[in-house]
Amino acid sequence: MFQRRAVRHRLLRLYDAALSALGPQHWWPAETQFEVAVGAILTQNTAWINVERAIANLKGARLLSPAALARVPFGELARALRPSGYFRVKARRLKAFIQHLWSHHGGSLRRMLAQPLPTVRAELLGISGVGPETADSILLYAGNHPIFVVDAYTRRILSRHRLVSPKASYEKLQRLLMANLPSDPALFNEYHGLLVHVGKEFCRSRPRCETCPLKFDLQGRPPKL
Ligand code: SF4
Repeated sequence: MFQRRAVRHRLLRLYDAALSALGPQHWWPAETQFEVAVGAILTQNTAWINVERAIANLKGARLLSPAALARVPFGELARALRPSGYFRVKARRLKAFIQHLWSHHGGSLRRMLAQPLPTVRAELLGISGVGPETADSILLYAGNHPIFVVDAYTRRILSRHRLVSPKASYEKLQRLLMANLPSDPALFNEYHGLLVHVGKEFCRSRPRCETCPLKFDLQGRPPKL
């Protein structure tokens, strides 16, 4: 019990320190729920800047809607997604997602996301090419469901701070965060964005602890690399 309180306390202090040093992250950068879902599928294995270019192509070609993506031929879609890398794979994944949306929810993402969290999560994970990080990004950032999105930065930061093993599974990391933080989508949203910011700017392969706002939590010990 004491250990659980200590973990909870540390996680909340890490959050407060990152937020006061870096400010709100306004993540996810998208105009609509549907754009969040498309971005979550396209961001696998690529930098966000490349996703932005692919989304700009989709917008420019008036393809960023469930109806247009259902109609567009595969080759045309793949060409529009070229900047996002692995563009044929991503075109296939996007088509699979859209097909699912039409066959189960009349093309309405809102209707799909209005289901209870366990139902919609299981459904998303059943779509070809949708893994836990993509599913949880859609659930949290498009659906406002209380679920923590775990990524490589989360793993790196929490393991360097000895809160979890570097080899912990996605589910174990997610459980650690969700069992110790209030179940609040706004908190999970901001916390994930802050971890991404810390990971990009400070917690790189060679960590920059000296200037990092989370250094206090190492309590004088070096990070566990
Ligand atoms: S850079 Fe250092 S202090 Fe900052 S999160 Fe990484 S290990 Fe922690």
